[in-house]
This record gives sequence, C-alpha cells and structure tokens, in this order.
Amino acid sequence: MYHTHLAFGLLFSLVSLYFIHPTNKYVFIAIILIAALLPDADHEKSKINSSIPGLKLVSKVFGHRGLLHSVWIPLCLWLIIYFGFHSSYGIAVFIGYLSHLFSDGLTKMGINMIHPLNQLRIQGFIETGSVAEHLVFLFVGVVCFILVLKLV
Ligand SMILES: [Zn+2]
Repeated sequence: MYHTHLAFGLLFSLVSLYFIHPTNKYVFIAIILIAALLPDADHEKSKINSSIPGLKLVSKVFGHRGLLHSVWIPLCLWLIIYFGFHSSYGIAVFIGYLSHLFSDGLTKMGINMIHPLNQLRIQGFIETGSVAEHLVFLFVGVVCFILVLKLV
C-alpha cells in the first residue's frame, strides 16, 4: 500500500543521508518519496494512478509488477538524470525506486528484479493490506522517527 512505500522511502532516504550529502536534503528526501511511488504506475488501482489522469495507460501497457518493477528502470533514470541533466539527484530517484522494489520484495507476490531477462525473484511472506503489513509500517515508522531524532 502506498503509505508503506512512503514509509520505506523515508527510511531509505534517512539512512542514505548518512552516506550521501546532497545540496538540499529536503529536496533529496522529497524526490525519494515521489520515486518510491513511481513503480505502481503499472497498477490500475494504485494511488499514483488515481491521482494522475492518463497514467492508467501505463498499467495497460506494462502489466503489474513487470518491467516497471525491475531494477532496469531506476538504473536508466539514474543515468539519464546524471548524464543528461548533470544532476546529483538522480541517485535520489534510484534510491526511492529501489525502496519500492525492496518493500514489494517482502510480499508473498514478490517481484522479479531483472524482468524480463531472467528470474531473480525476491519474495517475502507479507500479504498486501494484512495485519503484518500494518506492523511493518509501524516498525518502519518508529525506526524513521528515531533516525530523524538523530539527524536533527
Ligand atoms: Zn509495487
């Protein structure tokens, strides 16, 4: 669910701030949070799809958890932003996107990281929308809160 993706995006951004020192850390975090929602453009009923008109077409073209849920998209976006726009925020897009793939990898459905080339499946035991997901959300929220306290 999208709020769990936002929580993981926040967690990934807070942890990466220990290693990466962007010009503006708030812009950095904001980009990560947006990127954390991007992959579900391939899901017809996702938050991002119901918020942005016309995006439903993406879900029809790609199908859920296909190419848009592979590591290729964030890699390409990173390279395009880095070399095309000479922006260091490309890594933020990569991290945000990856946080989404990681959290989807905790679900029973799982994802194939290198779709469609081969199978490199990551899969967990959590069912989307279940009590377990809420617990994970809560846990990630608490960790984020502790990290924020340490950063300020
Ligand atoms: Zn997803």
